[in-house]
Amino acid sequence: MVLAQLGGSLAGALARLGRATVVDDKAVVDCLNEISRALLQADVRFETVRDVSSRIKAAANLSALAPGTDKRRAVRNAVAAELCRMLDPGEPSFAPRKGQHPSSVVMFVGLQGSGKTTTCAKYADHYRRKGFRPALVCADTFRAGAFDQLKQNASKAKIPFYGSYTESDPVKIAVEGVDTFRKEKCDLIIVDTSGRHKQEAALFEEMRQVSEATRPDLVVFVMDGSIGQAAFDQAQAFKQSVPVGAVIVTKMDGHARGGGALSAVAATKSPVIFIGTGEHIPDFEAFEVKSFVSRLLGMGDLPGLVDKIKDAMPADELKLIEGAFTLGVMRELFQSMQNMGPFGQILSMIPGFSAQLIEKGKEKEGQAKIKRYMTIMDSMTEKELDNTNPKLMNESRIKRVARGSGRPVQEVVGMLEEYKRIAKIWSKLPLRDRRPNTNHRDP
Ligand code: GDP
Repeated sequence: MVLAQLGGSLAGALARLGRATVVDDKAVVDCLNEISRALLQADVRFETVRDVSSRIKAAANLSALAPGTDKRRAVRNAVAAELCRMLDPGEPSFAPRKGQHPSSVVMFVGLQGSGKTTTCAKYADHYRRKGFRPALVCADTFRAGAFDQLKQNASKAKIPFYGSYTESDPVKIAVEGVDTFRKEKCDLIIVDTSGRHKQEAALFEEMRQVSEATRPDLVVFVMDGSIGQAAFDQAQAFKQSVPVGAVIVTKMDGHARGGGALSAVAATKSPVIFIGTGEHIPDFEAFEVKSFVSRLLGMGDLPGLVDKIKDAMPADELKLIEGAFTLGVMRELFQSMQNMGPFGQILSMIPGFSAQLIEKGKEKEGQAKIKRYMTIMDSMTEKELDNTNPKLMNESRIKRVARGSGRPVQEVVGMLEEYKRIAKIWSKLPLRDRRPNTNHRDP
């Protein structure tokens, strides 16, 4: 999963507290020390870590808790709340509207090598899958090969593109590209601008000119997450030159310092709207602070998973997941998870599955387990799959299913336990409504 190391350390600290025989002040201090160490290792600023830690301590003050309060839960909630506060810039971002004319124009800026061109294609593809008509304009005339790269990515994602091998004026290309796609009734026009190796006057001047000429609805700053807390200065510098309305942090796969980058960007009061999690087009996640923190702490993110399923499922199948959560629905859920992008990412959204199975390298085990569960469910009758009464699955039915699927009885029982746990959480989900309090809400 994204930030596997940080997530593993944070979830590990909370799990140790969960297993402690007594939750006293010492156990909480030990847990907080571990959390602080993990955040520092992820390159979060020392001052931020100190503040986060003292606020958790105050919120989870054991002596002030009412008798009977679940202390472990109080600490876990305080940790989650403080991490959310650390990552939430408190600023919403513009989101393009499907079918709107004149079209939304979104301009991408960033340093060379940050992943800007790749991210333009990922962003376009994200909206294409949501039913938009996006188009890409390559106004990067600085880097040789930029147009070819954009063209290649655009063709892969079947997105129309505009650019030129001969024109050297980025402003002219940007304006022509936007005009062309406005006439073609595209509702989302994405303009990729030039980068430079480092922040310099020529880069900022060119960005300003393209921005003035195309009057974008949103300027997205793309930055490389591996720079950690140095993200603060970089994001500030770009914000001072162009009206940056949102940030996308790339290379969050396998970079230990991504947590530092995310908190540093939040400190500049810019909303992070997506994160890049790999080199390929689907390696892209909408960023929502609460979901991200839940997954980071191994608490899962069923609302996020529901959103993903809603995106991936045809509308007529959606009713399946909006009714009672039967074993049959869980089977559908597992089935659609096979096609929903990087599996570790999806697994981390299921509470419980995450803690044991999404540590780096264990995604395969998680996937194999789900496949075995599906084999077991294939041996169940319609009645068993459609039923919500846990008592129906008595000993003789369990034995029959085990025989039919060729799996041990214990595994059938384990699958039924897993089902009960997920069903309990599922029953509390507002499946028909989108979640409130998102930084960036897609229509
Ligand atoms: P640009 O110069 O900013 O346009 O950057 P590019 O889009 O050409 O990307 C630079 C390199 O970073 C390429 O090798 C990309 O494949 C890679 N890249 C982009 N985004 C990601 C990401 O999220 N994760 C990883 N691992 N690599 C990425």
